[in-house]
Amino acid sequence: MKMARLLTGVIAAILACAALAAQRPAASKALVGGTLIDGFGGPPIRNSVILIEGERITAVGQVGSLQVPAGAEVISTAGMSVLPGLWDMHVHLMINGHSDYAHWDKTYPALFEPVIMPASAKQLLLAGVTSARDLGAPLEASISVRDKINAGAIGGSTVYVSGPFIQHAPYPGTELFRWGVSGVEDARAKVRKLADAGVDVIKLIDQDQMTMEEVRAVVDEAHARGLPVVAHSHRPEEIRRGLAAGVDNFEHTGLSSAPEYPEDIIAAIRERTANMARGPLFWTPTIEGLLNYEYLRDNPEALDNSSWHEGLTPEIIADIRQSIAHPDRLPYFQLTPARRPTLARKFHQLREAGVVMLIGTDSGIPMKFHSQSTWHELDAWVNILGVDAMTAIRAATYWPSLAMKVDRDVGTVTPGKYADIIAVRGDVLRHIALLQRVDVVIKRGTRYK
Ligand SMILES: [Zn+2]
Repeated sequence: MKMARLLTGVIAAILACAALAAQRPAASKALVGGTLIDGFGGPPIRNSVILIEGERITAVGQVGSLQVPAGAEVISTAGMSVLPGLWDMHVHLMINGHSDYAHWDKTYPALFEPVIMPASAKQLLLAGVTSARDLGAPLEASISVRDKINAGAIGGSTVYVSGPFIQHAPYPGTELFRWGVSGVEDARAKVRKLADAGVDVIKLIDQDQMTMEEVRAVVDEAHARGLPVVAHSHRPEEIRRGLAAGVDNFEHTGLSSAPEYPEDIIAAIRERTANMARGPLFWTPTIEGLLNYEYLRDNPEALDNSSWHEGLTPEIIADIRQSIAHPDRLPYFQLTPARRPTLARKFHQLREAGVVMLIGTDSGIPMKFHSQSTWHELDAWVNILGVDAMTAIRAATYWPSLAMKVDRDVGTVTPGKYADIIAVRGDVLRHIALLQRVDVVIKRGTRYK
């Protein structure tokens, strides 16, 4: 009986997996009737019609003026907000919310590529995140999972990967996904190795422990290969060095529980954002986990939402569950209540200094699940920090595609681009939290939800 049930479960899982991977795009589709927020920031288009051929959008218009071709599969979006597929600019596919990194890094590396990273990418996709930037994982697994998704072999969010972190020295037990650099030549060689393997971005961390020459070597070599550089920015000197070296995008709302960013840093950011020829300075504040920790600690119902089980084995799920059974006891969040009151000030300092903010979440860290993180970040921006919903949506669609230099293909609902489109019942500009239950997910012309 038990065996039979287990077998049924396995077969069901395989069938579900096959169904997700095997849906080929119908020759043509039409999304008809919804209110389209196209990603450019202008007024929404009522009674919209979006035509899709294969993987791409061919036309965008309105009911009554844009004809749906005979034979097209019609998907009604009446009563829904329709928008470009979301981006999450800071995820960690190799982790799934477990609270003990040392245990995770020792136990699961063999499962990263076949199980864990694909499960994370699938959870993101079903949450409406059609593109995600993975910032820190073993090199071969990162490239392999990304390429399998792009080839349609597994169903998941399109991922842009950094492979291993570049830093002064890996922490013990993390050598698989953290590469230390020693000297300028080594820094250049490590970046070349990543670029040759085909990564999409370089991730710098602990650059305050590297020499300035090493930091510059990493950034210059990455730029020479056309790769953007993303840098950790928890400490003041990480930001100072990153700015001096020409980093493109900073991550996190940092400086621990200090009340604000110091004047010299804000002045340096203003100097940088005043320089239009260098393009926008991007910043991914990954702020919701910090803002919402105390609420989640006291109201942990979301942890029981089974959406984060998708694609994981019962053993992994049980391991994660027991590790977060006591949200109040997790050392990871010890300082978070002290940091929370400082976050709004820092967020607004950065915005006022002219950075372009991006939606990203650090999804995968303790209690942060890929199926839930992204809408939480959007909700926190709008409902806690007072950002207008259109700006928040553009920080999860238009701007990320620009930051990753793929705005020709994704980021807005525009003829010629990939059909990465989501739809959700109701008005997301009025109620951003509706994004927690996306009704339609289409990626590259294939409907996944
Ligand atoms: Zn991270």
